[in-house]
Amino acid sequence: MARIAILGLGLIGGSLGLALKQSRLRDVELVGYSRSRETREKARRVGAIDTIAPDAASAAQDAAIVIIATPILTIRQMMEEIAPALPQDCTVTDVGSTKANVMRWAEEILPRHVSFVGGHPMAGKEQMGIDAAEAGLFEGKTYCIVPPPTAKETAVNSVVGLAELVKAVPVYMDAEEHDSYVAAVSHLPLVVSTALFSLARDSLAWPEMSQLASSGFRDVTRLASGSPEMSHDICRTNRENLVHWLNRMAQELLKYRDLIQGGDDEELLKAFARIQLERDVFITRGAQRREEPASAEPGISITDLLVGDWAGRRAREMMKGLEQESRRKDKRNRDYGRKR
Ligand code: NAD
Repeated sequence: MARIAILGLGLIGGSLGLALKQSRLRDVELVGYSRSRETREKARRVGAIDTIAPDAASAAQDAAIVIIATPILTIRQMMEEIAPALPQDCTVTDVGSTKANVMRWAEEILPRHVSFVGGHPMAGKEQMGIDAAEAGLFEGKTYCIVPPPTAKETAVNSVVGLAELVKAVPVYMDAEEHDSYVAAVSHLPLVVSTALFSLARDSLAWPEMSQLASSGFRDVTRLASGSPEMSHDICRTNRENLVHWLNRMAQELLKYRDLIQGGDDEELLKAFARIQLERDVFITRGAQRREEPASAEPGISITDLLVGDWAGRRAREMMKGLEQESRRKDKRNRDYGRKR
């Protein structure tokens, strides 16, 4: 039986295990390792893994695929621990929220006889640990695939296959590009959420204010309840991009301050109305992008996953779908043009 190893069995590692167990992947043993014994045992009890390994190197031994799902700054240490144990042609991937450092560590530490392909599922929540893990976490969510230029095609296809098996939508990206985009749409919200909570909490009026802080305040400050270790690691490994977006955010806030202070009520209404419309479009388009799960298809074997035939076929199907959608859009535009 082929082996997939998951190192780090918290929210993301545990959810990947649960999702893979529920997928159509057959004849695979999921081996897991996490720092605490309690987590390892819980992960096996809830069915996120089949077997517990006593350490990271033993989990990686004989594995066809190794998924590193530990905090970002621990990924380097995981790579060092597994490097001597990795078998020939093994595919190693990670789920870290930043990618440039991780890609450098892989290049530096992992042996040449394995392939590393970076990964980042754009899915999560503010809870952490195996108790928060759920099989449906990745459904319909973007899964960034970050292959280094030297990556073998079969390894890239294996990681794309993994993303599809957990019902995520794989999207290829370069590490620097990834880090600059997530700084704006994932890491900045984390800091803004934390700053808003800290601003209100530090006010002398907090005892009175907190009684009024309802769904809006809770929605916007939700991310402040996330893992402090994750936030720390993100800030340390994406410092420049995050500082750039924090400066932009400060300017944006000043723009709204001026608009509110300026007294041009029509401009103020227009600013809110434009953004409401644009956000509604974003929310609707995001929901439309989701693909129907291909539940009627037969089981996937580890050979399909490793050779990449299945992932390649799915990628071609997705491209065909996109081309058809683009033709439909062109036709709609032409019809609309004729009516005008
Ligand atoms: P988590 O705290 O829920 O889980 C991390 C797990 O790693 C824990 O089980 C912990 O015991 C284990 N671990 C820590 N150090 C270890 C070590 N030295 N050896 C072995 N195991 C160790 O965190 P998470 O949310 O699952 O995050 C894991 C990774 O996923 C991080 O790199 C994070 O950046 C990334 N990520 C998180 C989210 C999110 O929203 N939480 C989303 C996408 C990606």
